[in-house]
Amino acid sequence: TSPLSGKTALVTGSSRGIGRATALGLAREGALAVVHYGRDKQAAQQTVDLIEKDGGRAFAVGAELGTPGAVDQLFDQLEAGLREHTGETVLDILVNNAAATTPAGSAPEEVSAEQIDEIFAVNAKAPFLLLQRALGLIPDGGRIINISSAVTRRAEPSQVVYAMSKGALDQLTLHFARHLAPRHITVNSVLPGLTDNGSAVFQMPGAREQMSQLSAFKRLGEPEEVANVVVFLATDRARWITGASLDATGGSLLG
Ligand code: NDP
Repeated sequence: TSPLSGKTALVTGSSRGIGRATALGLAREGALAVVHYGRDKQAAQQTVDLIEKDGGRAFAVGAELGTPGAVDQLFDQLEAGLREHTGETVLDILVNNAAATTPAGSAPEEVSAEQIDEIFAVNAKAPFLLLQRALGLIPDGGRIINISSAVTRRAEPSQVVYAMSKGALDQLTLHFARHLAPRHITVNSVLPGLTDNGSAVFQMPGAREQMSQLSAFKRLGEPEEVANVVVFLATDRARWITGASLDATGGSLLG
């Protein structure tokens, strides 16, 4: 049998990018993938179609994180879908991947209080509330994986608020790892470096060339390369890892 057969996994923000690759990867290992999206229902359905074409199982749930009632909305759909597909509401794996990103960033001098609230609401507060709510559904031995960023380790002034929000997310990993250890639930962060998620900024030749230089391998990461690390953490083979931050940057932090 596959490593994750019989398991269920929610991946927030899996309508595209790293989240989509992660949902695909988890489903390939046998998990029923719950594909979450914020605005792009069609893209989420594409992820579901890709998984099904690949022989896997998936369904989509929508909720715009950071807006009032989003967590309830997400869990209502999640529980209904799980019941429909499995006859119960067990969630084995939660991947907090959705995030508000500002690709180009902005000068620290120009950041507004509203922008700070918005980014923290999606990148830090929502993952906390999702984790808190998911605990009622996650059995002993479950998995929580938070997608952080290499900018928590390397100064990038134009990304300061985003980096602050990911730093807060890493605290979720640290403290909940201790809190949930008695239940053998592991909590870890994965730190991607620059990863080609298909968005326009990664296709511009000059910018792409420049960003590629950050990695020791002199190229951008592929979503699958980050997803592979997440999938490993979700398996039983990773049971001795908790409270850790796994580097998935292609050596971008080697200096
Ligand atoms: P994308 O921008 O390609 O996709 C973001 C996903 O998150 C989409 O599925 C989007 O859904 C969802 N999302 C965004 N905001 C919300 C919201 N308010 N409510 C619900 N869903 C939302 O992201 P990436 O694949 O590039 O990044 C995935 C993760 O990896 C993020 O946590 C990011 O911070 C991190 N990361 C990425 C790096 C990179 O270079 N790509 C580098 C370092 C970290 P929809 O479109 O349907 O609204």
